[in-house]
Amino acid sequence: VGGTTFEPFTKSFYVEPEEIRTMTDVEVSDLRLSLDNVSIKGQACPRPITKWSHLGLSTDIMNLITHEFKFLSPTPIQAQAIPAIMSGRDVIGISRTGSGKTISFLLPLLRQIKSLRPLSREETGPLGLILAPTRELAMQIFEEACKFTKKSPKIRTICCTGGSELKSQINDIKRGVEIVVATPGRFIDLLTLNSGKLINTKRVTFVIMDEADRLFDLGFEPQITEIMKTVRPDKQCVLFSATFPTKLKSFASRILYRPISITINSKSLVNENIEQRVQIFNSDQRKFEALLSLLNPEFDSEQDGDRDEKTIVFASSQQICDLLYNRLVDKNFSPFAIHAGKPYNERASNLEKFKSTRNSVLLCTEVLSRGLNVPEVSLVIVYNAVKTFAQYVHTTGRTARGDKHGVAVTLLLDDELPAAYILNKSFRDKELESMPDESRERLQKMAGQFESGMKIGKYRLAKGFGGKGLEHMEKLNDEKQ
Ligand code: ADP
Ligand code: MG
Repeated sequence: VGGTTFEPFTKSFYVEPEEIRTMTDVEVSDLRLSLDNVSIKGQACPRPITKWSHLGLSTDIMNLITHEFKFLSPTPIQAQAIPAIMSGRDVIGISRTGSGKTISFLLPLLRQIKSLRPLSREETGPLGLILAPTRELAMQIFEEACKFTKKSPKIRTICCTGGSELKSQINDIKRGVEIVVATPGRFIDLLTLNSGKLINTKRVTFVIMDEADRLFDLGFEPQITEIMKTVRPDKQCVLFSATFPTKLKSFASRILYRPISITINSKSLVNENIEQRVQIFNSDQRKFEALLSLLNPEFDSEQDGDRDEKTIVFASSQQICDLLYNRLVDKNFSPFAIHAGKPYNERASNLEKFKSTRNSVLLCTEVLSRGLNVPEVSLVIVYNAVKTFAQYVHTTGRTARGDKHGVAVTLLLDDELPAAYILNKSFRDKELESMPDESRERLQKMAGQFESGMKIGKYRLAKGFGGKGLEHMEKLNDEKQ
């Protein structure tokens, strides 16, 4: 490689769309939470996208994705990895099996290839190289790639693995290929064939390592290192994997340049020791009655004399907090209340009393509860539906501290669509299954309504109910009433 000059090429194709650019940082972090808690490392990672149309894809590819495959929206790894790769960055993408990693690298690869000078008659290619650990996986990627290239004769793709016929692979290569999907061993064989005159990596500007954990487990590291030595140093290089063990990390840091790491958290956002529940109502009165029955102690005070199971009730405003306080006192409860409208001393003493009283109830607003750590809280009641994923994570997280278990119940009004969307995404399968059919269907219908509203721009995931958008949302609610 040393001393050779390479022709320039373009890596960067992504232009951040208006809809993403105008989001606030708070909205972006809530968006990342909603995308299965995508976490990023590395400098200047672009924001995730929410729609295919944000990527500036060609009409052909858009039609294929939305009409033929009927993929409604990008999966979380696609939403974050595609803008990062299309910005020209090296990327490490970690996401569970079946989460759509293939398209995450195929779309940027195809975009780059279309921009490159076509292969001349003397050149065999490839322009893009995809390495996979096994024949089956290479075949799968190859088939996926063919779906995208079947209408573009200028992008020829072949699959080169051991165990398939070498002769036909050689013939295909001689005619020229833009994309090679290969196992590392077979690719090295091809590179050395005919003393290096059959195929070379001179024009390779994009390298993908898929299922990198398995590439590593199967001992392909030396071969990959050898292949990489032959590829120009300013290539774009991405690595995808379901897991990211430490030994793979050091390998990645040797191979990739200033990478962005993207990890999709396949675990639920909500602590696994928290059991999530929801009850849906069509009136405030019903909702209040449900609160009363949740607060009524079910246990026998003689038998459970030592029991301390505290409850936190979340309200969305100081006014609602005060109102609930009065109504609960009317019903002979003795709750404690804290919110920003109370003087500091009163807040501190109420909190102390809540901590020292067994089976006590605390009424509070979400902002004041951040960081609150009271181990005996076994029940959180979200009285006013949350408006952001971040809020939901914070409020439910007040229970199940340490390794304790807890329950989080949301009392939902049937017009609170954003919260239905958030709950439906946050609930685990077993939590959805354990709901009465009627409630589950109602929740999912509301969530679906919100989701289709988002698609036509009527609702937005984060904007309109996060940060300064919160006021706007409340104004809309006032106008409605
Ligand atoms: P992974 O490589 O992460 O295991 P794949 O790329 O093989 O996952 O994708 C798994 C399945 O999901 C495939 O059948 C693929 O066609 C499908 N798929 C990919 N992207 C989407 C999407 N945005 N919406 C719906 N299905 C998708
Ligand atoms: Mg895969």
